[in-house]
Amino acid sequence: MANLTKEQMQEIQEYINTLPETERESKLKEIMSQFEQPQQCPFCLMSENKIPTTRVYEDANFMAVLEINPSNPGHTLLFPKKHIQTFSALIESEVESLSKVIKKLESALMILYKSCNVVISDGPFSGNRFEHLTINLIPRQQKDNVVINWKGNKAEENDLKKVQQDIIQAIPIEKKEIQPEPPKDLTGKFRKKYLP
Ligand SMILES: [Zn+2]
Repeated sequence: MANLTKEQMQEIQEYINTLPETERESKLKEIMSQFEQPQQCPFCLMSENKIPTTRVYEDANFMAVLEINPSNPGHTLLFPKKHIQTFSALIESEVESLSKVIKKLESALMILYKSCNVVISDGPFSGNRFEHLTINLIPRQQKDNVVINWKGNKAEENDLKKVQQDIIQAIPIEKKEIQPEPPKDLTGKFRKKYLP
């Protein structure tokens, strides 16, 4: 939102009124756009210590804070300090270090609360409002009112096969590589190949 005083607004309006009517609207928009403050990402602001948080974890790349509107006690938000939009946008080494942090936090929550959902929501239809990768760790209690649910619809086998092909095709190449399992027979080819 533009942050202007009443007097400044009046000045702008007076100037606009001097213009031909057809130009007024576009000129007003142009002027106002100079005063618009870019909407700042709250997770970036938290990373930069520009808004107060209740921190439970921090390292060079990640931070975890308590959700200020928790769905259950212990509801924790874990996020990268730099503005990364989705989990799949992380580079491999970041995935590795993030996984370790998830494990640490989940371990703590499991000790304290015995049950936990770990939720990643990416993309415009996922419920992620700020396009900054966030992992929600939600401790669960018996008969709490957290809803993580979906309705299943019976799929046709052909549809499953089609989607199967689509997903397999879409998986990035390096992730498709499956390490060949070493032969179980230690006296056979495995021994010749791997052991002295
Ligand atoms: Zn951000």
